[in-house]
Amino acid sequence: MNILILNSGSSSIKFQLIEMPSEALICSGLIERIGNDDAVLNYKTTSTSIKQTDAIKTHNEGLQKIVELLLDPEKGVIKSTDVIKIVGHRVVHGGNSFSSTTLITDEVKKDIQKYAALAPLHNPGNLQGILVAEAFFPLAKQVAVFDTAFHRTIPEKASKYAIPNELYEEQGIQLYGFHGTSHQYVSEKAIEYLKLKTSKIISIHLGNGCSMTAIKDGKSIDHSLGFTPSNGLIMGTRSGDIDHGIIYHLVHNLGYTVEKVKDVLTNKSGMLGLTGFGDLRDIEAEAEKGNSNCILALEMNAYRIKKYIGAYVSTMNGLDAIIFTAGIGENSSVIRRLACTDMDFFGIELDEAKNELKSKELREINTKNSKVKVLVIPTNEELEIAKQAYQLLY
Ligand code: AMP
Repeated sequence: MNILILNSGSSSIKFQLIEMPSEALICSGLIERIGNDDAVLNYKTTSTSIKQTDAIKTHNEGLQKIVELLLDPEKGVIKSTDVIKIVGHRVVHGGNSFSSTTLITDEVKKDIQKYAALAPLHNPGNLQGILVAEAFFPLAKQVAVFDTAFHRTIPEKASKYAIPNELYEEQGIQLYGFHGTSHQYVSEKAIEYLKLKTSKIISIHLGNGCSMTAIKDGKSIDHSLGFTPSNGLIMGTRSGDIDHGIIYHLVHNLGYTVEKVKDVLTNKSGMLGLTGFGDLRDIEAEAEKGNSNCILALEMNAYRIKKYIGAYVSTMNGLDAIIFTAGIGENSSVIRRLACTDMDFFGIELDEAKNELKSKELREINTKNSKVKVLVIPTNEELEIAKQAYQLLY
């Protein structure tokens, strides 16, 4: 059975067509810069690879393009849209309403809209994707997989903030967590690979957004992002943890507007704020040349990861494995090395040579004697969505 996976952002649609239960990838692609005259469409099958620049003004036009390609007599992969039985959607914020994968109804759509206030960069695009998919694939079941759902198992002692109770009870201010599909996918892979019956795992997702999750026996029990995807690790352009007193200082003493504070902490901080570069590849290249800001930023980045490892080892009272995943986690041997240096007290010992090997496969990069396994596992959020949607309906 064919499942179409849509990951719709505010100006992008990432898509994959996956055959289930074989998990075979039939085609994949991405449209970026929706809303512009020079939107870019990438599309790949086993025999075709296309890159087009075109005016794509709306998500509706974007999905129209995708459907045309899927049905194209030469480059396409299906004869009729009817063969797509399920459309699985990534939805970033499901608040407290969704602890698992859900068939999309009008009520569900209302909730996704409601939680747009908590994920303004993501939920509106996700909802838009759902609405256009309903129009293009009226016979398919529409399923939502929420990034927040995997974290619903985090106990209150970890998910509540120490602020007045009514802000939690009446306003829903608490840790929700993000990247749940990725953390779930890689931790399940690790448990299967290591054949663990009970497990204590730290999953480290380092991409444009970065987060860590403590996963005990397959369940998320703590996580570094919070109410919004701002907390925790140093990210590409986001500060991660800071003293909130800095916000009042910026507003009251330095005359920043609240909007400007948000812009600084979300778009101009993190690795970009520290180095002037947003892409870790540039920062690593500059550090090689001796750029002291870049060297320090890499050290700060890894230091923050180490602090969270320490916190989660104590939270779980032990550790079987740590996992590095996503763009940086899968590719940056530098960050992995810095994060695993001087961690032998915890039983973490990195094999430097294995760490340098490049591969797209799951791999072990710890020494033979390391008590804790250090794994690099390519994440696959789309496949996780397909698996969950399939499990829900079949
Ligand atoms: P993602 O959000 O998972 O797509 O990750 C995107 C991030 O991965 C980018 O910001 C890059 O900085 C980083 N990245 C991708 N490839 C590499 C690489 N070979 N070395 C270091 N960082 C990389």
